[in-house]
Amino acid sequence: MLRLVLTCWSFVVVFLSGCHRPNFGGKLHLSFDVEGAPPEALWAVLDTLDQYQAPASFFVRGDALAKWPDQGRGLLTAIRERGHLLGNHSFSHPYFTKLSAEAIATELQATDLLLQDFITVRLMRPPFAADDDRVREIIRELGYIQVKWDVQAAEYEGWDDAYVRGEAGSRERFLRYLVAKVQKKNGGILNVHDCRLVTENLALILGEFQQHGFHFVPLEYFLAPRSAL
Ligand SMILES: [Zn+2]
Repeated sequence: MLRLVLTCWSFVVVFLSGCHRPNFGGKLHLSFDVEGAPPEALWAVLDTLDQYQAPASFFVRGDALAKWPDQGRGLLTAIRERGHLLGNHSFSHPYFTKLSAEAIATELQATDLLLQDFITVRLMRPPFAADDDRVREIIRELGYIQVKWDVQAAEYEGWDDAYVRGEAGSRERFLRYLVAKVQKKNGGILNVHDCRLVTENLALILGEFQQHGFHFVPLEYFLAPRSAL
């Protein structure tokens, strides 16, 4: 009897924890932080996204755009025309938690000047995802929707370095790690960066997700019911 009770209890625990675990039903959205990759790398990213019919979002640093030819206008036009969304990732990538309200506004508005012809909704992602109640309030008052993520690829934690160094098998290990991480939540918003590991291997990454049954969806799919993002 005791064994039966224990068995039932473990089933209930597993069942309940399953209910509380986020599950995005295999829907996946790719959300890039654009930190300064060469424009050619981003053009290649757009071609690969087309190939996999994956609508993405790009949160762009103003200082990266400012360095590109014609302030990246050709690329920004292509991003919009190919059905992706653009967002603001500050101008110079400071910690907003260390800035005054005026300085936060200056950071966002400097990038908005570059993005304004290409956006219909003001989305932003704070550098390093650094925010607190004060920063969130300032961002709201400035009229932005803050967009974070459900899964962080975290290529900066050594994965990209190992790939750039040419460490044998590093790309395959990253792919396994990334798919496992996304599988834990069964999708959601995946944050990736414009590092070489991602831009040079995007077709492999998207192919891997497709093989595991994930469907690529636009950011709006996740934004609508979760305005608190
Ligand atoms: Zn960033």
